[in-house]
Amino acid sequence: MIEVNQLGKSFGDLVVFRDINLHIRSREIVVLVGPSGSGKSTLLRCLNGLEEPDAGSIRVGDAAWAASMDAASKKQAIRHIRTLTGMVFQSFNLFPHMTALENVIMAPAIVKKMNQKQAVEIGESLLAKVGLLNKKNEYPSRLSGGQQQRVAIARALAMQPQMMLFDEPTSALDPELTGEVLSVMKQLAAEGMTMIVVTHEMKFAREAANRVIFMSDGKIQEEGAPEQFFVQPQTERARKFLRQIE
Ligand code: ADP
Ligand code: MG
Repeated sequence: MIEVNQLGKSFGDLVVFRDINLHIRSREIVVLVGPSGSGKSTLLRCLNGLEEPDAGSIRVGDAAWAASMDAASKKQAIRHIRTLTGMVFQSFNLFPHMTALENVIMAPAIVKKMNQKQAVEIGESLLAKVGLLNKKNEYPSRLSGGQQQRVAIARALAMQPQMMLFDEPTSALDPELTGEVLSVMKQLAAEGMTMIVVTHEMKFAREAANRVIFMSDGKIQEEGAPEQFFVQPQTERARKFLRQIE
């Protein structure tokens, strides 16, 4: 589903990461962890075409980007990759002047040129899926953080992505609101969505992930099944990281 080879990204003199290799199977749930500043968000943004890497290659489904391609092909590849990936951010990023339903259906209505009736049907079914059909006409300011994030998930799903990327989706939420968001994510995982999740929610990682990837100092330092990573981390860097987040 996702194949990343020798991916590199720098901002000016700052090398965020280099030589990242990553293969993710369809329906796999990967949790990405690592210290702040280790490049987790940048990697997700590269996988979603929000940031352009400067070395290596990315394949998502049948969309392929490579640093060696010409500028026009790269641009097209990034556009293609973006249609295949849905992203959910720490700050929910809903449009404040649109209702929950309008937030969910805006992109498919425009990008997929869906007619209004069809878009509303899909939007309502997605809001039902995240348990918020009864809030469809509310504006974001009248929703709790957990509800806003669930609308953001529904909005990402509305484009029918082949994979979902979550960048610390519960970090901005009060602790009592994280559960409802994590349970929507678990439900998505159970339905077979391919997901990469950056999170500090180790309970979620233990319960839902097939694999944990630990990034630090611009590299993937270690990866393994959650039971292995949490119980017997192989590197001193990972042990130190786990001690700090406990
Ligand atoms: P993480 O998500 O693991 O905390 P980030 O991917 O956000 O890490 O950041 C990795 C490094 O890249 C940090 O040093 C950060 O300051 C830097 N960085 C991220 N985005 C930009 C940008 N647009 N311009 C310059 N530096 C950036
Ligand atoms: Mg980040």
